[in-house]
Amino acid sequence: MKIAIIGLGNMGGGMAANLVKAGHQVQAFDLAEPALERARANGCACFATVREAVAGVEAVVTMLPNGAIVRAVYGNDVIGHAPAGALLLDCSTIDVASARDVAAQAEAAGYRMVDAPVSGGIAAANGGTLTFMVGGTDEAFAAAEPILSNMGKAVIHAGASGAGQAAKICNNMLLGASMVATCETFKLAERLGLDLQTFYDISSKASGQCWSMTSYCPVPGVGPQTPADNGYQGGFATALMLKDLTLAMAAAQEAGAPVPMGHLAQELYAAFDAQGQGGADFSAIIKTL
Ligand code: NAD
Repeated sequence: MKIAIIGLGNMGGGMAANLVKAGHQVQAFDLAEPALERARANGCACFATVREAVAGVEAVVTMLPNGAIVRAVYGNDVIGHAPAGALLLDCSTIDVASARDVAAQAEAAGYRMVDAPVSGGIAAANGGTLTFMVGGTDEAFAAAEPILSNMGKAVIHAGASGAGQAAKICNNMLLGASMVATCETFKLAERLGLDLQTFYDISSKASGQCWSMTSYCPVPGVGPQTPADNGYQGGFATALMLKDLTLAMAAAQEAGAPVPMGHLAQELYAAFDAQGQGGADFSAIIKTL
């Protein structure tokens, strides 16, 4: 299949390489020259503009920083420039409203479009083991599924247009809030004189058990190997958690949904990020408690 991919950064670079490995003819574009060089080395044909990259393709994949850029790239250079009937897949994490608006614009112009944000970081993008949460019609999902499978281990239909983004930010709001709760709980346990491994052994088998504790324990030396055991490097960056929590707060406000715990998690991650900790793994927030 001839596929365009726009946005070849930390995530898109590995995704482009996996599309090539799956046997597709990949036409790539990014604003940054180093990203284009990596794509070229991985077997992509690189182009000087989005419009040239999407010419003649059957599908367009985008992996871009935010909703404003996704709106601009689709509005100015994909819609009306990719062949009519092409399948459009936006894998960026963006606000639900932008995802729905761009899909509506694309569908009005005769394209099929899905929002397909991912769970899994750079290692999963490189390894082809991402999880995709997909919003769109049954027909668009059926067409998108085989392409996304080339870049991931799981592809889940979340619902209509925008549902992929909604699922992603709801999941990450729960993750942010549960990570803060896990961190403060371990700090309290410590102050109460509990041995932290013993507390882990108890709570991981009791009703306080959660993923932030048993799969991603923020305490070094307790539970499985996690970024905490590596100086809080690697893993999921604080700046990206803050981005997702901020999108969740915007969505909650628009939907009129009260999210007091999510709101507090967003404030705490904003303060941690402002301390210059945006690059640290999000479990490092335990250091502030
Ligand atoms: P990144 O900044 O490394 O890559 C973004 C790329 O987009 C850059 O190479 C940039 O040059 C390019 N770009 C920006 N504007 C462009 C334009 N107008 N046209 C073409 N290219 C343009 O970011 P990333 O880490 O790859 O993240 C991409 C998306 O994936 C984001 O929405 C992010 O929230 C999401 N995401 C990232 C991770 C992660 O661990 N990094 C995990 C899950 C989801």
